[in-house]
Amino acid sequence: MYFTDAHEELRVHIRKFLEKEVKPHLEEWEEKTFPDSIFRRFGELGFLGLRYPAEYGGQGGDYFSAVVLSEELARVASGGLGMAVAVQTEMATPPVFKFGTEEQKRKWLAPAIRGEQIAALAITEPDAGSDVAAITTVARRDGDHFVVNGRKIFITNGARCHWALVVAKGDRERGHSGFNLLLIEKGTPGFQVTRTLQKLGMHSSDTAELLFEDCRVPAANLIGEEGEGFKNLMWELQGERMITAAGAIAGAARVFEYTMDYARNRQAFGQPISQFQVIKHKLVDMGTKIAAIQAFVYQTAKRWDEGEYPVREVSQAKLLATQVACEVADEAIQILGGHGYMREFPVERAWRDARLARIGAGTDEIMKEIIAKTYGL
Ligand SMILES: Cc1cc2nc3c(=O)[nH]c(=O)nc-3n(C[C@H](O)[C@H](O)[C@H](O)COP(=O)(O)OP(=O)(O)OC[C@H]3O[C@@H](n4cnc5c(N)ncnc54)[C@H](O)[C@@H]3O)c2cc1C
Repeated sequence: MYFTDAHEELRVHIRKFLEKEVKPHLEEWEEKTFPDSIFRRFGELGFLGLRYPAEYGGQGGDYFSAVVLSEELARVASGGLGMAVAVQTEMATPPVFKFGTEEQKRKWLAPAIRGEQIAALAITEPDAGSDVAAITTVARRDGDHFVVNGRKIFITNGARCHWALVVAKGDRERGHSGFNLLLIEKGTPGFQVTRTLQKLGMHSSDTAELLFEDCRVPAANLIGEEGEGFKNLMWELQGERMITAAGAIAGAARVFEYTMDYARNRQAFGQPISQFQVIKHKLVDMGTKIAAIQAFVYQTAKRWDEGEYPVREVSQAKLLATQVACEVADEAIQILGGHGYMREFPVERAWRDARLARIGAGTDEIMKEIIAKTYGL
């Protein structure tokens, strides 16, 4: 219903590349994070611009091309790599494409599509995550520059990025209408990566803390209209949640398939464990939830692709897909028993990686707050 022959060809192409050039290195990348050069390789193959127009070096595809990429990345089971690529293609660059000027698109979007520039999106701060309006990073206008001061935390691609799209307050007095999105290049005096953070999962990605100290950023780096940053960020977050949902449920489907196969082959008390009713029912619950949510994710992605702004459904899809991904990974470990807890079996990493998606791009609780508002509650 949603994928054309062109999508399926793209899927085969991506899958072959990932099997050949990514999968053999994944264990090493889990230890040391992946090399920056992987972005160039993705760029050369056109995977960083699947749904951007050809004039910026993109492939001109629709939203389902991005869904295919996210599903195939979920299949190779390195949440960190999938997240880093999604930050590049679905989080940091979309605002440049949607709100940026022609010159800005040529300068930053096109090289990001080619994989020559790595991008990050910096919203979260040590004292403000869910409550974006409470950020304290300030970008004060000074002639044809902004002077940025503040600290950002948990920033994916933060250590390796060439630029970060930074959310800052222009004017503390103006509330939501005082926000700006500023593209700040690495190397700008006053922009520092203060540390990289160790984390539970997503090990192949880097997560950094950034500091801006009297960082002078040309006004030409303002993405979108001055003061429109909050509204524009809310638009960006819809896309971020949509792709998170697509990746999470695809990851759950992969874990489910693996677990079913394992249960068919693992013997206990003289029979495959899949023959115990309790295990059978666990597998049925997993498959049933995945099937239902997958359908809902595709339906919502279609609406997003057609230009609708279905905030309730995007939030519901993100909430459900990420919760079920965690539940499936947890049940998978139970079904694999001790093997499930071991690094040499893939469900252990899936369990660790999946957990983030209930926090990043807006927590479960924030999704529920948003959904509640759409019901007028
Ligand atoms: C590995 C990783 C990568 C990340 N990558 C990025 C990135 O690239 N860029 C970026 O900007 N950020 C990134 N983040 C940050 C992420 O988006 C935030 O962690 C997330 O938005 C939650 O913010 P917080 O951690 O400050 O939690 P808090 O906002 O402090 O929330 C703590 C708890 O309180 C709950 N809570 C808060 N407000 C409410 C409310 N109104 N009602 C009910 N409950 C509430 C939350 O749901 C949560 O359970 C990343 C985080 C991680 C862990």
